[in-house]
Amino acid sequence: MRVAMIGSGYVGLVSGACLAELGHSVVCVDRDAGRIERLRRGKIPIYEPGLESLVGRNVAERRLAFATDLEAALRGVDVVFIAVGTPPRRGDGHADLSSVWAAARSVAATLDGPAVLVTKSTVPIGTGDGIEAVLRELRPGLDVPVVSNPEFLREGSAIGDFLRPDRVVVGSDDAHGHQVMRALYAPLLHRGARLFETGRRNAELLKYAANAFLAVKISFINEISDLCERVGANVLDVSRGIGMDERIGPRFLEPGPGYGGSCFPKDTLALARTAHDHGMSLRLVEAVIAFNEARRPAMARKVLEACGGALRDRRVAVLGLAFKAGTDDIRESPAIAVIEAIQRAGGRVRAHDPAAMPHAADCLQDVEFAATAEECLGGAHVAVLVTDWEEYRRLPAARLRQLLRDPPLVVDLRNALDARELRRHGIRHVGMGMPEER
Ligand code: NAD
Repeated sequence: MRVAMIGSGYVGLVSGACLAELGHSVVCVDRDAGRIERLRRGKIPIYEPGLESLVGRNVAERRLAFATDLEAALRGVDVVFIAVGTPPRRGDGHADLSSVWAAARSVAATLDGPAVLVTKSTVPIGTGDGIEAVLRELRPGLDVPVVSNPEFLREGSAIGDFLRPDRVVVGSDDAHGHQVMRALYAPLLHRGARLFETGRRNAELLKYAANAFLAVKISFINEISDLCERVGANVLDVSRGIGMDERIGPRFLEPGPGYGGSCFPKDTLALARTAHDHGMSLRLVEAVIAFNEARRPAMARKVLEACGGALRDRRVAVLGLAFKAGTDDIRESPAIAVIEAIQRAGGRVRAHDPAAMPHAADCLQDVEFAATAEECLGGAHVAVLVTDWEEYRRLPAARLRQLLRDPPLVVDLRNALDARELRRHGIRHVGMGMPEER
């Protein structure tokens, strides 16, 4: 099938490349001409494991191309995806849909024949109805079903998630829309992927409900982790014990510095706003939003307390800037807020991240960036591990001992390091939700 993907960011680029890998002919479009130019030269604008070779292979085999000219990209297509950003609107937390409306209007103005228009962006319930209205107004005669196909891929494992999804959700109130989507995803369905077909509004809402549920799960274990610290229990065992219950499951039960990234913070907020607009409060989701916001200063306090309340002129080595391992995305990253709080307390920060330093350099001030984790740690009074990159997990305790100043201290906001091993090497380890054995 012929596919156009409007928006070539994390979701659009990965989805476009994966659909090409499934055998479709895909053109990824973006209004950012520089991004398209780089893609044409084989340069991948984001860090995502495996993406460079996937894109390279599909470009070489002529199934994947890049364009800024929407009109040419839409010529003769069967399916048009909208995969543009839907960031929080300034001031009120609603999803900012200006890019979605702009894309819908461009499609209405340029589409030259029948096709299916699919929203892959995360959009509030009723957005599909609005897109339909835009099409009706601008191109009354055009027969274009509007379908919702929310995306569940995770940055850092996006290709695997797309090609081996837990489920593909397709929301449409139009039988032809469902039929076309079944044909599009047929290669995945043949390999056993589950397809969940529902109405369009249900699909729109369930994406937010899924993200909100995961945010609740993360925040729940974070709160239990705080309680463990107070009462002298170990959250790792508590988490393991509850995760063995199949109704709960073991995933997303690791305590940390709070959820971040471009999805959970904005989607929980937008869901709460949707409820407000309909005269109700999502009290559970609102509590989670407030708890997660408070977690960043709480993490900075944890570092401060571990340092005996004094950070002035202390050298702090921050390991990890991305909101999670495996990505260069720093949107709503807890690391940024933690660093700023450390700086306000007078600490001098040197930071490292295997992928996210260029982005972080754009938004942080007075931070030294180190080329390697070892360079970051050298001579620091305290190391703060914020993002659990595999290379940090593998840092030998003996080497940490050599690099850090005396008395060596590590605040491990992900429980990524082996606390016992560190202690054996004389390093004080302050983890999450566990008693500190001295
Ligand atoms: P992104 O910011 O990385 O990419 C969006 C791209 O769209 C940008 O390159 C931008 O230049 C382009 N764009 C914006 N308006 C355009 C227009 N009118 N025409 C052409 N291009 C346009 O965003 P993202 O992280 O890929 O997210 C896209 C959507 O997918 C959001 O709604 C997000 O909530 C959702 N989503 C994201 C993830 C994730 O992990 N990033 C996962 C699931 C769903």
